[in-house]
Amino acid sequence: MFNQIKLYSFTIGLFIMKKTLRLVLGDQLNIKHSWYSEKKENITYVLMELRSETDYVQHHIQKVVSFFVGMRSFAKELEELGHQVIYLELDDSKNEQSFTKNLKRTVSNNKFDQLEYQQPDEYRLDQELTSLHKELSVEVNAVSSEHFYTERLEMKELFDKRKSKGWLMESFYREMRKKHELLIDSNEKPLGGKWNYDQSNRKKLPKNHKPTAPKLFQRDVSDIMKMLEEQNVKTIGSIDSKNFLWPVTRNEGEEMLEFFVEECLPLFGDFQDAMSVGEWSLYHSRLSFLMNSKILSPKEVVDRVIQHWENNQDTIDISQVEGFVRQIIGWREYMRGIYWAKMPEYENENQLNHTNSLPEFYWNGKTKMNCMRQSIQQSLDYSYAHHIQRLMVTGNFALLAGVEPQQVDDWYLGIYVDAIQWVELPNTRGMSQWADGGLVATKPYVSSANYIDKMSDYCGSCYYSKKDKVGEKACPFNSLYWNFIDRHLDKWESNHRMGMMVANWKKQDPEQKVKLLERAQYILENMNSI
Ligand code: FAD
Ligand code: SF4
Repeated sequence: MFNQIKLYSFTIGLFIMKKTLRLVLGDQLNIKHSWYSEKKENITYVLMELRSETDYVQHHIQKVVSFFVGMRSFAKELEELGHQVIYLELDDSKNEQSFTKNLKRTVSNNKFDQLEYQQPDEYRLDQELTSLHKELSVEVNAVSSEHFYTERLEMKELFDKRKSKGWLMESFYREMRKKHELLIDSNEKPLGGKWNYDQSNRKKLPKNHKPTAPKLFQRDVSDIMKMLEEQNVKTIGSIDSKNFLWPVTRNEGEEMLEFFVEECLPLFGDFQDAMSVGEWSLYHSRLSFLMNSKILSPKEVVDRVIQHWENNQDTIDISQVEGFVRQIIGWREYMRGIYWAKMPEYENENQLNHTNSLPEFYWNGKTKMNCMRQSIQQSLDYSYAHHIQRLMVTGNFALLAGVEPQQVDDWYLGIYVDAIQWVELPNTRGMSQWADGGLVATKPYVSSANYIDKMSDYCGSCYYSKKDKVGEKACPFNSLYWNFIDRHLDKWESNHRMGMMVANWKKQDPEQKVKLLERAQYILENMNSI
């Protein structure tokens, strides 16, 4: 009798439970999401490999493989946990290569009553999924992706409340430290006495210092490579398909995090800005893909790092930890805040009216400039460059050379394994190309050879001379730097942070100025042979 009642109520339960399809995007591989805390008969998860995603820019082959292997492993993990999963591979004959078309078909063929999705992080996908509310005949609901520290518009609301004209990252960062009680004492004062140890995060790598070798994974991805080739997906960069090096599963992500705290954290802050010939990741975490695909959450990364430091305070200085925490609860959340506050206008910003083409060597690394060659070649080889290489080498050069921001964006969005528009765009247009007129960066991140030489050993083995400003062997950064100051002088004259540069340019000998501008002009006209 009791069993009969149970069966009866189970059947009624199934009857009233809506048959639900849940969409999981390629960058939502978060196994800790509350969706997965219980198995339900009426719920099916769907993941799709799509041409709309492989083709919106030309991506690095390692980036495409990371996402696809990550998605396939995630789907398998869900099935192993007992969930029902539909997985559409790129070459599946049913695959119509768009979220909307595939979802319409799946919902109607399988008679789903409702569709649920986690809020996407990219504006273009948000638009597409929002339109499903009208396009599908069933109920459509969006839920939080449960990943970030902040809501989409939280940062905007914070600055709007303060009526701040500028949106200083540092103010936001301090709010985040207090709100989430990170590296804070009971009086809301920063542990160690300082909010920011940026000044001690700027050391050059000492001569003969051999950094920790990067942790590399080994996975045979030949099957996915074969499929991508057969489907004629156009990619950039190279890959060792028998030894694919990026971590793409939860277990590998946890291993990578442990490697970081043990091997890299003790010197992370010190050499955060350093660059060295042949050293492609130094003490950087290379956790960006894992976090951007949501395999790891920023909170667990930050908590683990702080916990490790708390247990090892005798060997790890607070400056190393603060430098790392700032990147995640500060810069990463700040960039997301800028993106959601300023899209869609932000993706067309070009306040310096730059229109030049991206030089060919960005795609093949063929240039005599050693810093550019090193940074671009390692990006082609590993789909990775660290922040200062992106900002002060490749980004710096593109800005000095007046490259159209759209072309710069496409390059950054394609080449890096961690590149997703919500984080790539504010970093590229805003921080690196100053295309937003100074919202993210109060002054442009530009430099002559001086800075690159200060932070690296690139100049020592370069064809060009770091000291020369004019002449055939003069470092291109030197004349391009002054040309950039001169080209936009009106803008810099009203920017107090650029006052010294403007005064310096104005007082230079007029003949020397002409020579500098001529040298810059020569470089701009002969971009493909420098
Ligand atoms: P680490 O140096 O170990 O730093 C730890 C973490 O901090 C990173 O994993 C990342 O999540 C976060 N972080 C650090 N700096 C930033 C930043 N400026 N913005 C957001 N998060 C940050 N980062 C991306 O994740 N995707 C991008 O597409 C991207 N494009 C960039 C384009 C340009 C022009 C520039 C200048 C920077 C870009 N960044 C981007 C930021 C930064 O360079 C990368 O996050 C970092 O290099 C990733 O390597 P890592 O994990 O070893 O970082
Ligand atoms: Fe780069 Fe100039 Fe130094 Fe050569 S000399 S590595 S081009 S900064």
